[in-house]
Amino acid sequence: EGTKISNTSQRTPNKPKQIVDCRSLLHNAIQTATNEALGNPQNASDGVATSPEERLLKPLGSFEMMSNESRSLAATISQEIYMQNPNVKFSDIIGLEKAKKFVKESVVYPIKYPQLFNSSKLLSPWKGLLLYGPPGTGKTMLAKAVATNCNTTFFNISASSIVSKWRGDSEKLVRVLFELARHHAPSTIFIDEIDSIMSTRDASDHEGSKRMKTELLIQMDGLNALDQVNNNVFVLAASNLPWNLDVALLRRLEKRIFVDLPGLEARENLFRHYFTDIDNDQNNKNNEENRTSSTSTSCSLTLSENINFAKLAELTDNYSGADIYQICKESAMSTLRKIFNILEEIEESP
Ligand code: ATP
Repeated sequence: EGTKISNTSQRTPNKPKQIVDCRSLLHNAIQTATNEALGNPQNASDGVATSPEERLLKPLGSFEMMSNESRSLAATISQEIYMQNPNVKFSDIIGLEKAKKFVKESVVYPIKYPQLFNSSKLLSPWKGLLLYGPPGTGKTMLAKAVATNCNTTFFNISASSIVSKWRGDSEKLVRVLFELARHHAPSTIFIDEIDSIMSTRDASDHEGSKRMKTELLIQMDGLNALDQVNNNVFVLAASNLPWNLDVALLRRLEKRIFVDLPGLEARENLFRHYFTDIDNDQNNKNNEENRTSSTSTSCSLTLSENINFAKLAELTDNYSGADIYQICKESAMSTLRKIFNILEEIEESP
């Protein structure tokens, strides 16, 4: 097995990340359709920016779902679906070791060591993973780390935007989304605030909403088929309100991870992480400026050596990572505010 693992990692060393710019992708598809209708297919992709990431995309020629209706729907949803490289490393996420382990087990290792997962149904990778917990605890950061670090096409879907605007077409939109994900497999579909589209089904549901929920369940069922293409599509969902989620969906999100508020040690590390960041940022900027101009004056923020991180961690019981980030930001800004005041006074003085 050791030989097999090293062989595989040799086959895919540092494979460039595949990022889909859905807007350009859909724009391309629409343009192709328009050009075809105009009898001008040879210029189908002219005028579309081709970034290095886009060049990695499979051509849409073989994309079966691209009927005219899907094209126009895709054009509409292109405003709501986006993909980008969020540049978040797993090491940027403080604590959450268990969550990181499961996320890697679900998305990173199946691609890195496929031979370890395909041998039996019991060893097939998780198809769906739910991150749930209080707000501001790093669920979205985990998803961004997946997008940054895994060589999968990443679909970043905000559930609320799908529901609020396109309720009538949401069902088709879900279908197109999964088709695109299969087309560009290996793919990760991240659905934030999933509770806003997949709350428990009941009789009061709007007809379109019912259809959309059913479609999502069907599509997720399809992922469990043990064929090669479906095997490479993974759904990552996040929610603050897991008790509102439909039970049928919960069953399909096989692995559920509680992303809790940070403990004492994690809070101390969060303070260190953010304050040290400010310090490093400023030092880097100053070094850069000193290199380029020996006469330049710069305002330098340096971190006091007397900060009692352990005390800060003690005082912030029940604070989330986002709360701690806000505290660090506020304290840095309060120092800047003092400088602003002095500068303004100097400017206003005759
Ligand atoms: P919500 O459920 O409200 O969407 P969330 O759990 O998705 O919240 P994030 O968006 O991941 O929270 O985190 C918000 C911000 O809080 C991050 O941008 C980051 O600055 C900070 N943060 C939260 N948790 C962590 C963490 N574990 N490590 C580092 N930063 C964190």
